Amino acid sequence: MTENNNIAEFKSETEKAFQTAWHSEKGGDESWYKLLEFYGAQPLSQKEKEQLMNSEMKIVKGAYPVELRRVYEKIIAGYLLKNDPQLNTVLNEFDTELKVKEYYQKIKPFSGMNDIFSNASVSLNKYSEGMQKEKHQTIKCKNCGAPRLEVAQYDNCLFCGSKLFVSN
Ligand SMILES: [Zn+2]
Repeated sequence: MTENNNIAEFKSETEKAFQTAWHSEKGGDESWYKLLEFYGAQPLSQKEKEQLMNSEMKIVKGAYPVELRRVYEKIIAGYLLKNDPQLNTVLNEFDTELKVKEYYQKIKPFSGMNDIFSNASVSLNKYSEGMQKEKHQTIKCKNCGAPRLEVAQYDNCLFCGSKLFVSN
């Protein structure tokens, strides 16, 4: 066999998931939620979505990255069951962390300028006041930079689903 159909199918499924998420309305639309359902991937709860909407992690379009990650995980788990050594190499090389980050780059506001204007004046004051105190308490996602909202509330990043947190 020179061609591996499993690999081709895997690539087309992950690409389709990416495109569906990307072309979805902000926060997910019907076709996105159909796709989540198809893979049995868990959508964000309404409460989690509201938290994200009000967080500093702004998006202009598309489904939330964490949901795309959940779909990727389901797709990968499904293909691992095929026990195809060639395919497994591709699955191992699939960098979910990076893909989710790339996706975030596509759905975040085009320019950082909006963020600067809307946040800078407010947060600079807040920062200079609270810098010393809060410095040790800020925990950010290593992958997407989202602040962890409440430490005890969840294990993975609510925004992108990463397990990697760094204190700074
Ligand atoms: Zn994150």
